[in-house]
Amino acid sequence: MTKKPNEMTIVEAARALRARELTVRELRDACAAAAHAKNPELNAFLELFPADERAIEAAQIRIDTEKESAPLLCGIPLAIKDNILIEGKTASAASKMLENYKATYDATVVKKLKDAGALFLGRTNMDEFAMGSSTEHSAFGATKNPHDTLRVPGGSSGGSAAAVAAHLCIAALGSDTGGSIRQPAAYTGLVGLKPTYGAVSRSGLIALGSSLDQIGPLAKTVEDARIIYETIHGIDSLDSTTIPDGLYEVREIPKHLRIGVPRHLLKEGVDADVLDAFNTTLGKLITAGHTLVDVDLPTSSHALAAYYVIQPAEVSTNLARLDGMRYGHAVRGNTLLDDYVDSRTEGFGEETRRRVLLGTFVLSSGYIDAYYRKADAARAVLRREYDEAFKVADVIAFPTTPSPAFKFGEKSDPLSMYLGDIFTITANLTGMPALSIPMGTVERNGKKLPVGIHFTAPHQAENILFTIGQATEGL
Ligand code: GLN
Repeated sequence: MTKKPNEMTIVEAARALRARELTVRELRDACAAAAHAKNPELNAFLELFPADERAIEAAQIRIDTEKESAPLLCGIPLAIKDNILIEGKTASAASKMLENYKATYDATVVKKLKDAGALFLGRTNMDEFAMGSSTEHSAFGATKNPHDTLRVPGGSSGGSAAAVAAHLCIAALGSDTGGSIRQPAAYTGLVGLKPTYGAVSRSGLIALGSSLDQIGPLAKTVEDARIIYETIHGIDSLDSTTIPDGLYEVREIPKHLRIGVPRHLLKEGVDADVLDAFNTTLGKLITAGHTLVDVDLPTSSHALAAYYVIQPAEVSTNLARLDGMRYGHAVRGNTLLDDYVDSRTEGFGEETRRRVLLGTFVLSSGYIDAYYRKADAARAVLRREYDEAFKVADVIAFPTTPSPAFKFGEKSDPLSMYLGDIFTITANLTGMPALSIPMGTVERNGKKLPVGIHFTAPHQAENILFTIGQATEGL
């Protein structure tokens, strides 16, 4: 065996477990040892859980007795973002506000992973409440990018991405409201999937933007991402926005895919070497028999503005309950107003407060028509444009990000940070599934930094994403 157990993919580890080349305990211990050794430097995990002896033993027995029919995730150590509830464990969303909150139930995705026999290694760092693109907004310190520790791993699921990329676990769950799975996947050389809105239950996910949020995998390969997606997806009575399979048109997967490229969006703002990597990858896909088509998505240029109105609006509503009275960090002042103000000032970080203020403003009676309703209308137009584009294309391709991972502190101006989300946010606004896959590296200060190619597909066409993903992986 050349690879260390913690360096394996889900598929490789599942095979080794069944072939008795490896035990569940050895696999779990290899990941835990790597995590304990590297976490002090990377800060990918906010907490590493003690070994769950019962779960380890149960997984081993299941593999030994069920063999090939045991779920592929049985005995596989995963990392879980700190905004997804695991019963009895802290879930803080990397906020001081929820520092001492212990989950009283399992998120539906966690329950499904437990049913499949997966193991949980720990909870991972993130931007507070999942707002941000760098994991610098965590109340518990930033996470470092394993490819260059002077740089961010992306965000908000930066802890999950760093943990998988540094081989501290086999795969991880993140959440994606505007790119928080796909952008860190691109920055750390991983595969990241944002499923169709409603494909995966949000029950037990600490809400950020409820009309945008989806839970999804960060994994080393497309196949691993698919295995996790198939395990966690499905309609759930605890989340009324979940959708049954086949709600949208079931599309045939053509052998040769038509890849839509909105060239007009790539004219400026994308680093030259990132664009080169993108064009080279597309060139290879053409050689492999796929075709390129031009698509026009004119409203995309307003997507960022629409997102940064709708998302803060939903944030301000979702976080209203965290006031030190009903939930969260509580400070007692001289007056009732002091109680609220002090609890929220101490409990929330700067970015969270900025979004709550912005969201409250765009929903206020004088401004809701000018901002929130306009943004919502732009969202509807955007979706129509994508539906139109999908009449001539099977997938739409962009680079996942305009640049590779940036240095800590480089984007301290919030607007410059928001601009980096330009390519990922549309999939959340339209509810369509999207996948980021590595497309090589670019060099910065003598370091090779991963970059990603991003594919969007029509609603519920995750299978098309896995097909193009595997085609890209195989280039
Ligand atoms: N970077 C985006 C934001 O700050 C997306 C965050 C996310 O997907 N959770 O809102």
